[in-house]
Amino acid sequence: MSKSLWKKIQAFIGVATDGIPGPITARAIADRLGIGTPQLPAKPETLEFDPRSEKSLATLVPNAQRKAREWLRKCREAGINVKIICGTRSYEEQAALHAKGRTKPGKKVTKARPGYSWHNFGVAWDFVVFDKNGQPLWDSPLMDRCGRIGEDLGLEWGGNWKGLVDKPHLQLAMGITLAEARERVKDGRTVA
Ligand SMILES: [Zn+2]
Repeated sequence: MSKSLWKKIQAFIGVATDGIPGPITARAIADRLGIGTPQLPAKPETLEFDPRSEKSLATLVPNAQRKAREWLRKCREAGINVKIICGTRSYEEQAALHAKGRTKPGKKVTKARPGYSWHNFGVAWDFVVFDKNGQPLWDSPLMDRCGRIGEDLGLEWGGNWKGLVDKPHLQLAMGITLAEARERVKDGRTVA
């Protein structure tokens, strides 16, 4: 298929129009076709964790999913009721989020344009601790404890970031920049 046709397709589905059909383009096409959302196993009782965490876990690349499961297991063993509430966001989903408070109504929720968040590469997830009544405890010291459990496993925790601290955020320690990650995706290479 010609590069110009791919560019038209990419423009239509709202991803970067480089004319190269890489994994981001494939994911966006799958989303459009309604086949991009990972399916949960048929039997909920076979899930290791709660459905919400499992749904987010399913969006991560295998490396990240393995680490995230290990981390969640350790937190649960420590008696912490923590859930993963967010995993991967496609470029399209990131664009929609970025538009909030800019071209769309509402408050700004992110600075990151598509390709400028590690959530766009399947290697990052967000978590929150819940109390007995199911209320999220964003400021609980247990959030820090979960972050440190992640660091002990070699993960990068947003609670230690200089500048914008992001306590609910964990990700694989990448050793590359977001710019490099974007280039890899463009070239159809894997990021992690
Ligand atoms: Zn995050």
